[in-house]
Amino acid sequence: MPFFIRSFMIMLLSFLAIQLNLCFSNIQFSLTDLRITGHFSFVNNEFAGKDYGNQFRFLPLAVLYPGSVSDIAATVSHVWDLGPGSGLTVAARGHGHSIQGQAQAHRGIVVNMESLKKPKMKFEFEFGESGFGYVDVSGGELWIDILKESLKFGLAPKSWTDYLHLTVGGTLSNAGISGQAFRHGPQISNVRQLEVVTGKGDVVTCSDEQNADLFNGVLGGLGQFGIITRARIALEPAAQMVKWIRVLYSDFSTFTRDQERLISAKNTFDYIEGLVIINRTGLLNNWRSSFNPKDDDEASQFKSEGKTLFCLELAKYFNPDNDNGALNEEIESMLSELRYIPSTVFMTEVAYIEFLDRVHTAEIKLQAKGLWDVPHPWLNLLVPSSKIHVFGDEVFGNILADTSNGPVLVYPVNKSKWNNRTSAVIPDEDVFYLVAFLSQADPLSTGKDGLVYLLGQNKRILDFCKEADLGVKQYLPHFNTQDEWRAHFGQRWETFQRRKMDYDPLAILAPGQRIFQKGI
Ligand code: FAD
Repeated sequence: MPFFIRSFMIMLLSFLAIQLNLCFSNIQFSLTDLRITGHFSFVNNEFAGKDYGNQFRFLPLAVLYPGSVSDIAATVSHVWDLGPGSGLTVAARGHGHSIQGQAQAHRGIVVNMESLKKPKMKFEFEFGESGFGYVDVSGGELWIDILKESLKFGLAPKSWTDYLHLTVGGTLSNAGISGQAFRHGPQISNVRQLEVVTGKGDVVTCSDEQNADLFNGVLGGLGQFGIITRARIALEPAAQMVKWIRVLYSDFSTFTRDQERLISAKNTFDYIEGLVIINRTGLLNNWRSSFNPKDDDEASQFKSEGKTLFCLELAKYFNPDNDNGALNEEIESMLSELRYIPSTVFMTEVAYIEFLDRVHTAEIKLQAKGLWDVPHPWLNLLVPSSKIHVFGDEVFGNILADTSNGPVLVYPVNKSKWNNRTSAVIPDEDVFYLVAFLSQADPLSTGKDGLVYLLGQNKRILDFCKEADLGVKQYLPHFNTQDEWRAHFGQRWETFQRRKMDYDPLAILAPGQRIFQKGI
């Protein structure tokens, strides 16, 4: 390149960089001028450019630590007033446990939702046909803290995620699925009311009766239509203890048939999940540290080495004061209907809170070994029941035949427990499975436990689902183009797009989802 052109380019870039910096300084000044009770931070914001996935890093310009809902409304209104030209966006950050930067805002504003301590948790009790009451919580509240507070009144939310150190706003923006969802639906089916700050900075209370379009849009809405500042969560009586059971299958069809039988039965367990176990040695010995085999001699005969196995995980809640004999009989009777490998029944009894908070116990162990903050190339899929065997044959029998770099969950849920007016995208079948590949990558490896290999494996799974036309939907979805988002939403795209125009027309909110560009 001739010298004078190079010099010109350098001058132009320097000029643009100065303009950009001036522009950021102006925005910074204008934010500091806002009358808020919390504060903005412009330094030490690296945490807000990271998440659990550990693959995407976008540093924000500022982090808002809101002291009140009005702080969030004032900030979004200010960005709205700056107009599309400012390029400024706002991301609510819950516990930052997204996988692909969904809670990040490149040179934008991240709202640290956990600082929003208002409203304080408030319980309302109802002992009638309509239920047992509800609790009003801040959108930045962690589910574990809601559980602890609710238990003081002998109550608890009905539907959970496997891990409770996530915020209410973060899980309600997706769905919130765990082993109770077959009965109660996901967490988004157990919310009565929300308070939301829209992309125009308006604070709106919404429910099925009031501003229903916004209410349904926000549930499963990937943060696109508003920031959830308060949620009203339905409660049920909490148990004190849990009987926790694991049994094994070597045949996938028998395993899924039993799972589907259990989720459709009237008298059944309180929690139903499942795991795929690939190429594990010493599995049952491992379980013995916390579970007791029903028959120790028989269990000792069983060798898991090398086989792909399927573990059905069940739980029944109980109170020790009630008739334990009757409960044991009931469990025996339910288990007798199932076709697992007889020598592989393992049981334990734990406190209800210990059961619900079980992943945190694993987290503490992984943290101690430095294995919690590694890259997590997770892939979560919703697979229609009619296609689960085609899916299983190829994915567990071929793509994952000899490697596993983290748990693989497989369990069915009932579509009837989902509200089809929400933004959540699910397969069009009465029963569908959550299949979660919860891989962790060795950051230094270039082998089968490295990030590149695991991302390639995810791609092979997704390509197979597409080629075989299985009607699979991504849960916690991630796409790179708007065409892919359109395909994901299918017939729901029009409603999704229309809601965006109604509630966040400048596309200020949740830019990390990469669905809309600012100023659409
Ligand atoms: P963040 O990652 O902080 O945010 C997620 C998205 O929601 C972002 O787009 C963000 O902008 C938006 N958002 C955050 N707060 C708000 C708000 N108040 N209002 C509007 N939008 C908001 N999911 C399940 O369904 N079932 C499980 O069993 C399950 N287990 C998990 C276990 C672990 C260890 C991890 C890391 C994740 C798990 N997840 C599970 C996924 C989890 O539900 C989602 O990643 C969830 O979004 C994380 O919540 P968060 O508070 O960290 O949200």
